[in-house]
Amino acid sequence: MTKSTKKFETEVQQLLDLVIHSLYSNKDIFLRELVSNASDAIDKIKFESHSNMDLLEGNADWKIKIIPDKNAGTLTIRDNGIGMNRAEVEENIGTIARSGTRAFMDDLKGKNLADNPELIGQFGVGFYASFMVADKVTLMTRKSGDKNAACCWESTGDGSYTIEDCEKETRGTDITLHLKEEMKEYLDEWKIRGIIKKYSDYVQYHIVMDITREEPVKGVDGKVIEGGGTIEKTTEETLNSMKAIWTRPKSEISEEEYEEFYKHISHDYDKPFRTIHYSAEGTSEFKALVYIPSHKPFDLFMRDHKKGIHLYVKRVFITDNCEALVPDYLRFMKGVVDSSDLPLNVSREILQEDVQIKRIEKNLVGKILSTLAETKGKTPEDYLNFYREFGPVLKEGIHFDFANKEKLQDLVLFESSRTDEGQFVSLKEYVARMPENQKDIYYITGPSRSGLENSPHLEIFRKKGFEVLYMTDPVDEWVVQALTEYDGKKLHAVDRGDLELDSEEEKKEKEAKQEEAKKHYQGVLDYIKEQLKDKVKEVRFSNRLTDSACCLVADQYGLNANMEKILKAMNQEVPESKRVLELNPDHPLMQVLNGLFEKDKDNPKLADYCGLLYDQALLTEGSPIPDPLRFTRLISELMVKAA
Ligand code: ADP
Repeated sequence: MTKSTKKFETEVQQLLDLVIHSLYSNKDIFLRELVSNASDAIDKIKFESHSNMDLLEGNADWKIKIIPDKNAGTLTIRDNGIGMNRAEVEENIGTIARSGTRAFMDDLKGKNLADNPELIGQFGVGFYASFMVADKVTLMTRKSGDKNAACCWESTGDGSYTIEDCEKETRGTDITLHLKEEMKEYLDEWKIRGIIKKYSDYVQYHIVMDITREEPVKGVDGKVIEGGGTIEKTTEETLNSMKAIWTRPKSEISEEEYEEFYKHISHDYDKPFRTIHYSAEGTSEFKALVYIPSHKPFDLFMRDHKKGIHLYVKRVFITDNCEALVPDYLRFMKGVVDSSDLPLNVSREILQEDVQIKRIEKNLVGKILSTLAETKGKTPEDYLNFYREFGPVLKEGIHFDFANKEKLQDLVLFESSRTDEGQFVSLKEYVARMPENQKDIYYITGPSRSGLENSPHLEIFRKKGFEVLYMTDPVDEWVVQALTEYDGKKLHAVDRGDLELDSEEEKKEKEAKQEEAKKHYQGVLDYIKEQLKDKVKEVRFSNRLTDSACCLVADQYGLNANMEKILKAMNQEVPESKRVLELNPDHPLMQVLNGLFEKDKDNPKLADYCGLLYDQALLTEGSPIPDPLRFTRLISELMVKAA
């Protein structure tokens, strides 16, 4: 194939502009990013060569070489990693492959990135960072195992790039940065040394550079010849210590080193929220250095989000994004686990089932949850910072991790009718402040706090002074399926089934009142039932309403409005389930309807009003009404009449 010139995807160009103009004040990190990519590429070939030795082409002297060329004004980063073929270069460098990224870019548009650099640091800008210091970047690469698949990519970062086939003898990738005039300091040996030491010291492969020094001329005996002058001698030096940070004792590792390692493996711009570093001994021997990030990644809830724990066996890289090491509800964790028990040739498929891995997972989960519990206990304000980012994910654990339910239920928080917006209450606090006459824990689910606050279902709770938890995350519907009890108290949805809110006396009083209402209104009640029989399961007088005329109530196990909405949003089939319409016998509307009914059962207005009653109940719970046109026509008629 010949040389072709292509345009970057719009998103890539936007990203490039951001990186070049506003992202990092610290330009040094371009080298960290490129070395990181090179190290990942070597990880990959190492792993793949376990099953196919031919890929090595006899070269397993893993190395990342930095080649400054002062004459040409270029800096080259060379690796003997897996390399890329032409299609992969186009896919990886010319487009933004991950589907969530587009949505994320859209989301970024309104925000000032200079003030929020962490936003963009959330996804790998890695390679593009080179354009901060270079006005032209050339990438030459050849995929391992295919000598004819080399290609050359080049761009000045202003909208387009060229790509063409080329010759490359050795496997791997060379990235050559044609440095901008004012960036020539990056050719300086000491500058490069400093950056590598600071950001990439723990990279596990030799990062080398040719160093040329003047040496006095020596004789055959190895002794310096007096007055013999000097000659230039070039040697290849390794710039990094390659010490795997997780194998070092905690006491010797500085905060800064932990942070740099986090940035290296997570590609995050920000500091981690917590660092957890420990060794496990006993049934399972491993070292873990894992991090809770400070911010959620933009794709946390997307299907192609990858978990971020890397697995090593005795310091040998096995795989990144190891699925089996943490459960989904802790998928935001980043870091490294290094096992002493697993065999080196474990395959990814086996990992899912491996008992050793299961043991590590169990241990790791315990450690993470206890770290969170400790944070919550000691620094509740700080815990809120974590919870605001990851609470909705953590909550999934209550549904899926039965073994840790007890721990998790003390970590979850909810807004409630007693908290201000954006503030939370734990179940423990909720129970502690329950009034004496309250038996159960009450909650309401729905898409937003403002919607819930106005729900007629809350009227009776307000009157009684009972706190109601607001559950506004979609996952909450699943949480409450598993979390049915806390501290011996049942969790009860305010819009479901019968509520046992009253004392014996109050109950008697209400029953009497209901009997009275029925006597009064039985005829019209039956009439409403008949009119709405296709829409609701039952029509009855309510114990929950004090102000509103009506509301809809789900069965103890039936679908509520929120769940219906969530299922629809997920494109899932929504099973047919009718709810109960509850009417407030004290509402003036009852008298009006009854009056009309007693005067003339066949008045067509009466049927219309029954429909309106039902529509009202739907609207207050935030559900769509079946026939909005009819609804507006009837309302207009009523307004005209009232005027
Ligand atoms: P990230 O590293 O976060 O994925 P980059 O933009 O830095 O983002 O790189 C995009 C992709 O290009 C990488 O995921 C990798 O597949 C590929 N890539 C980059 N550098 C190299 C390299 N030196 N060798 C092989 N592949 C590379």
